[in-house]
Amino acid sequence: MCPIHRTLNIILLAAGLICLATNGARAAGNPTVLKVDARDARRRVLHATLHLPAQPGPLTLLYPKWMPGEHGPTGPISDLVGLKMTAAGQPVAWQRDPLDNYAFHLEVPPGADAVDVTLNFLLPSDPKGFTAAASSSANLVVISWNTLLLYPKGVAANAVDFAVRLQLPAGWKFASALPRANDSANGMEFAPVTLETLIDSPLIAGAYLRTFDLSPGAPRPHRLNVVADSAAALEMRPADLEHFSRLVIEEPALFGAQHYRKYDFLLTLSDQVAHFGLEHHESSDNRTPERMLMDEALRKGWAGLLPHEMVHSWNGKYRRPADMATPDYHQPMKIELLWVYEGLTTYLGEVLTARCGLWSVTNYLEHLALVAAQLDHQRGRDWRPLADTTVAAHLLYYARPQGTAWRRSVDFYPEGELIWLEADVTLRERTQGRRSLDDFCQRFFGGESGPPCVVPYTLDDVLKTLNEIAPFDWRGFFQQRIYSVNPRAPLGGIERGGWRLAYRDTPSEMLKAFETVKKVTDFSFSLGLSLAEDGGILDIIPGLPADRAGVGPGMKLLAVNQRRWKPELLRTAIKDAEGGATPIELLVENGDVFQTCRLDYHGGERYPCLERDAGKPDLLAEIIKPRAR
Ligand SMILES: [Zn+2]
Repeated sequence: MCPIHRTLNIILLAAGLICLATNGARAAGNPTVLKVDARDARRRVLHATLHLPAQPGPLTLLYPKWMPGEHGPTGPISDLVGLKMTAAGQPVAWQRDPLDNYAFHLEVPPGADAVDVTLNFLLPSDPKGFTAAASSSANLVVISWNTLLLYPKGVAANAVDFAVRLQLPAGWKFASALPRANDSANGMEFAPVTLETLIDSPLIAGAYLRTFDLSPGAPRPHRLNVVADSAAALEMRPADLEHFSRLVIEEPALFGAQHYRKYDFLLTLSDQVAHFGLEHHESSDNRTPERMLMDEALRKGWAGLLPHEMVHSWNGKYRRPADMATPDYHQPMKIELLWVYEGLTTYLGEVLTARCGLWSVTNYLEHLALVAAQLDHQRGRDWRPLADTTVAAHLLYYARPQGTAWRRSVDFYPEGELIWLEADVTLRERTQGRRSLDDFCQRFFGGESGPPCVVPYTLDDVLKTLNEIAPFDWRGFFQQRIYSVNPRAPLGGIERGGWRLAYRDTPSEMLKAFETVKKVTDFSFSLGLSLAEDGGILDIIPGLPADRAGVGPGMKLLAVNQRRWKPELLRTAIKDAEGGATPIELLVENGDVFQTCRLDYHGGERYPCLERDAGKPDLLAEIIKPRAR
């Protein structure tokens, strides 16, 4: 048992940064045995039993609530069903805590040395959300162990061991970072690990699964494990394999050390599951559309996912904001420093996407232009600072798309990217090109390579390390950009990096990829309007032509200039109205009322791009140059 998490604050005050917890596999003492029967995964149900060592007397068991990486109380307890408990062969009654619904109280009878728990988890089919959303199809399943277990209250996650046994549908293969023990007639057995490691090591399984060795012969293996809804979706182009192999060289080269024994990308290709990525120390759970490896727009649109999730092995897992390094899954996290945890990861992940070749230089510049333009059109910038989007992240992740421009979204990802780009450019300017954010990464996230370990940090630690690279008023720099209201997007990194945000009349390849991934048509930069595939109005930009003409989010576009709506028709209408005086006429449906809105807009099509500023050195080109030899 390692009780260090419980004394986290004292240790931090007394000694600064200390490596808190090795969470690797431990010798089996008296672990909780978790048996998972996934043979009904196709029917969207997982069955589990737990044999949990216990002493006679009162006991409280907890269902994991605050999920690392999801930044909120997202444990899907409403899909936990059929919960029954016994001890020494006798039924044991349990009561759910009325104020704390993730806690179950029971009395362990005299003479019992364990509690046996039976439970089932209803795999959801709703694609909206993270691990609590759709995680299975007829051909595959992603198992997040937190959905299938209870653990004793008052015990730190790194102080209790679990041993997993798993049964899968016949013929299904699996992949996970979880260390294997052996197989038996009753299924696969995994080595006992701490609860922390177990929840940090999800598993993918399915009828179609391939594993690609990305670093053959390397002392620390890197594998790309892909499960899909079809055999065809598993086909990997040689160029993609080369880029992924390059990625696992470039990432460690950026940080200078590896805090994992091996790294497993778990990639699920399915249109039936929720699409997102979730980071772990030695693996990542990446879920994209089935055709991601086959379709050019999907490939470009999702290219940044694996680089981003792998960066989290250093930023988010190894180094973690102290207020997010909680001892268990019950204590709430304070998430204000997500602009470092997620914002810096977004910046580094996208730089690495270009460094490893998953994006071309043009892709990277087009992506940056899109991010900058979208943030610059956020009207919510004039009422809430970026920091307010971090502390309210668990609300914003689930906010509906309507009203995003006024509400703001989880902007600490894309805006964090622009701010950390500006920090990188500032470091390069102040050291005449001798130092950069790469040096910060080496110093802050590097150190000795070894097994997983958590080293918490505070904002002061971040500022101190930046000052060691290049002395500057870094506190003021972030105060102004993160904690103050800023009506305009932070474009300093782009502009001092030798480029400027501009607009042209044709959409970039990355904007088209963004539209494909998001299934939207985006007229934000001209009409101030974005549309779903069915014409549903996702959002309007307050103050721009659609808003001024009375169009509102939640309405549905039916016709453009008296013809049935489709994206090309609206593009043509914008072009035809350019420089003239005739308004663009939109017929919209508002509930059961039809309404005609006349948009007095004559500025033509308008899509973001970056233009080179020849008067300044091209620092963006420097930043995305590969650094590994
Ligand atoms: Zn992330």
